[in-house]
Amino acid sequence: MIAHTPTLFAAVALVATIMAFCLLLVGWSSRRDNVWLTGCGLLAHALAYVCYTVYGHAPLWLSYGVGNSLLSLALAFYSASLFRVRDQVMPWRLIFIIPACMLVGLMLLLDTLEPRMLLATLVLMLQCAMILYWARRHVERPGRAHLLLEIGALISLVGLGMRALAVINGTAVEMRYDTSNLKQSISVAIGTVTVMMYSLGLVLMAKERSETRLQHLALRDVLTGTYNRRAILERFAVALDRARGEQRSLAVAMIDIDHFKRINDVYGHLAGDEVLCHCVRQLQQRMRQGDSLGRYGGEEFLLLLPQADRDGALQALHALREAIAGSPAHFAGDEISLRFSVGLWCGVPGPHDSTASLLAQADAALYQAKAAGRNAVRMAALVGAD
Ligand code: GH3
Ligand code: MG
Ligand code: MG
Repeated sequence: MIAHTPTLFAAVALVATIMAFCLLLVGWSSRRDNVWLTGCGLLAHALAYVCYTVYGHAPLWLSYGVGNSLLSLALAFYSASLFRVRDQVMPWRLIFIIPACMLVGLMLLLDTLEPRMLLATLVLMLQCAMILYWARRHVERPGRAHLLLEIGALISLVGLGMRALAVINGTAVEMRYDTSNLKQSISVAIGTVTVMMYSLGLVLMAKERSETRLQHLALRDVLTGTYNRRAILERFAVALDRARGEQRSLAVAMIDIDHFKRINDVYGHLAGDEVLCHCVRQLQQRMRQGDSLGRYGGEEFLLLLPQADRDGALQALHALREAIAGSPAHFAGDEISLRFSVGLWCGVPGPHDSTASLLAQADAALYQAKAAGRNAVRMAALVGAD
């Protein structure tokens, strides 16, 4: 089906304008997000298509030079949006110098047909390839939104490739903006898909990011960054089910810093905070992969050691206790030594064991460790000793 190309351009411009204003309206109040940058990209995209619509009726510097530079500006905004959504340092100069160079280059080549078409197409292709490269770089777990963006960049590379081929094959006239033919219809359709995919991909990436942030906030302890009480208890429930199902051993350690109140009283509350963070860092450095640590209360931590037997768990906790006793925290020039006591439950959980019952047993063992003079590890039900 061959559609009237200027009408298609106008339709794309209209849709992009509506989407741009929606995103600008939503994103303006929180400009640290990437939504408004995506909105700016869409607005530039829409204006580029307005310029294309008036090709043949308006001066060439406007309909072609400014039009393609605006499209290049749109891609620059999408790139900026990609960096912003990932909180990465943005290469502003590199990103925005390209549309400026495009404008200068097109103005110089305005009187030619093939060279200016080739310049515009190759620069836009370069920008799409850069978006594709940046989208794939440094991504640990690319979400579906990422995929949308990458597909968008790939499709636009195909569309632009078609234009470049037409120029190379000497059929550049067929791709003039006021010409209606199948190739043009396909090319504009690709442009439409690109608008949708870039903008939707970037907006959904923002959504994915805020979901990840919320999840992080919900599961992490604000001070130490380790799991909070809710998260460690959830992991405990999962570990307990698994150990029971597989009839494997599980060790649960309740760790409590000794005389922590004194640390606060002597060095101040901020020093106490630093001691808590130091303790978490030290524990995390020495934990096995698969172990989980969470802040259970003020200066109490819960450590889960799946598949650890009694001897292994006792040994591991003694090693941790000794390591922490030998690594004092530092705050404002003070060296603050710390010790902790541990109540340990270890075994293959039976059908009547629950997180609450195991915690109660670990807590009772902790009480014994404190009563025995602190800086000690006590095993629930079975006397492990220091
Ligand atoms: P014990 O050896 O018997 O465990 O004595 P303790 O002093 O460590 O225990 P106690 O329960 O008497 O005091 C715990 C203190 O931890 C009291 C509370 O103010 C402090 N605390 C709780 N949360 C925080 C925190 O986030 N930061 C700081 N700096 N202190 C905290
Ligand atoms: Mg305590
Ligand atoms: Mg304590």
